[in-house]
Amino acid sequence: MRYDVIIVGAGPAGIFSALELSKRKKSIVILEKGKDITKRRCPAREEKKECQRCKVCEIIYGWGGAGAFSDGKLILSPDIGGLLPHFVGTEIDKLIKEVDKIFLHYGATNEVYGENEDEVEKLQRAALKVNLTLTPGRVRHLGTESCREILSNMKREINGKVDIRTKFDVDEIITEDKKVIGVRGKNGEKVRGKYVICAPGRGGADWLQKEATRLGLTTKSNPVDVGVRIELPAVVMEKITSVVYEPKLTYYSKYFDDRVRLFCMNPYGEVVTEYSNGIVTVNGHSYKDRKTNNTNFALLVSTTFTEPFNEPIKYGEYIASLANMLGKGVIVQRLGDLRSGRRSTHERMQRGIVKPTLKDATPGDLSFILPYRYLPSILEMLDALDRLAPGVNSPHTLLYGAEVKFYSLQLKINSRLETEIKNLYTIGDGGGITRGLVQAAASGLYVGRMIRNGVSPTNYKTTL
Ligand SMILES: Cc1cc2nc3c(=O)[nH]c(=O)nc-3n(C[C@H](O)[C@H](O)[C@H](O)COP(=O)(O)OP(=O)(O)OC[C@H]3O[C@@H](n4cnc5c(N)ncnc54)[C@H](O)[C@@H]3O)c2cc1C
Repeated sequence: MRYDVIIVGAGPAGIFSALELSKRKKSIVILEKGKDITKRRCPAREEKKECQRCKVCEIIYGWGGAGAFSDGKLILSPDIGGLLPHFVGTEIDKLIKEVDKIFLHYGATNEVYGENEDEVEKLQRAALKVNLTLTPGRVRHLGTESCREILSNMKREINGKVDIRTKFDVDEIITEDKKVIGVRGKNGEKVRGKYVICAPGRGGADWLQKEATRLGLTTKSNPVDVGVRIELPAVVMEKITSVVYEPKLTYYSKYFDDRVRLFCMNPYGEVVTEYSNGIVTVNGHSYKDRKTNNTNFALLVSTTFTEPFNEPIKYGEYIASLANMLGKGVIVQRLGDLRSGRRSTHERMQRGIVKPTLKDATPGDLSFILPYRYLPSILEMLDALDRLAPGVNSPHTLLYGAEVKFYSLQLKINSRLETEIKNLYTIGDGGGITRGLVQAAASGLYVGRMIRNGVSPTNYKTTL
């Protein structure tokens, strides 16, 4: 079978390119490693038991991608969520508006946070006084349950116009004379196509990296973000989250001058685990209609390694694997215990006033896991946050580790997001240029539109 366009991965990036391409009669196939969205089930979440380390993690793989189980905070600002503006220039504002409109069309709520400029400015000023920088951003919160529904609606729209093949694990990108001609599945099946759009997400980043090396493509590593997920009573952060929902706060640590950032705030949410490449890490989400008493967010320290080391993903995985070794999964510790240099125990956790929403985390000691470079910077940022939102520094505040964001290797691409191989594109988180739903979707829309309009890959402008 020969298609005009092959899309690898049915996350937001792949889906948005399919939506765009299906507007014009082209033969298109989406090849997705995981299951259909209706069949995706995470036993740990649904039955509230520990991570089962499924061979293919249902949280990350399957129709909808990592986005299907995300709580769908649509960050409607070009300054947050990736490097796409660097590649597409001023086009980004238009793309973000379009992505938002498409989400609304398929069922997103009308509610947007961060629109009250006076309140946001007040927060920004208060943050500056305690050495924190707040990047303002408008956020539309879908909630985990509507995120799934919206992604299912999108599937219904393109079903019939696009061939959708789930449980198809792409193993190889096939090229001929520096031009892509198709892909081969793990089952040996060859699918031919004129264009290949690779959108494998973070879960497929290792695979893409392997293929890039095999094909001799130029790559650049991105920073790795290492840190913890904080959980505390929702009221502590309420003054902030009611204004901006997802406060993008950054701090530069005094000793190391490292950038620490607050990421993925989930007011009234739940802490969850995520399983990828044999490693359990921590994450968070929040439902629109199912509230807990707690809020969680990540505090991450970014590191860009320099010569000769060039494997940030391996480094991040190594740290997360330490937590898995000592805690059989994720470790949880009370801030008071961490500051007093002792591990948390089940008994101490029982006495805590913050009840953990992640039940299968092991009480332990994060100072055995996080290198010295990270821990003081995180504690300093907690001090600064406490001055903005009193209560953050409570001894009962919980820290879960490790949270590691393995941003993918960046492939050399031109301003059309095309690689050094003709007609081979990389989009979304897997290509290392986006870090969130909106920019991932925008990259899909952008490439889909170019192929749809028959733009030939001339004017090769390198951006790496
Ligand atoms: C728990 C959680 C909460 C999140 N919350 C938010 C949020 O609130 N807001 C936000 O902006 N972002 C959030 N994110 C991040 C967001 O989900 C991702 O940025 C986004 O999904 C990236 O889209 P993508 O299409 O690039 O990749 P993905 O969504 O990861 O999709 C990639 C797809 O490719 C498939 N694939 C991988 N390799 C192969 C292969 N070899 N062959 C075939 N298929 C393959 C995978 O199965 C997957 O379905 C969250 C992520 C998680 C895990």
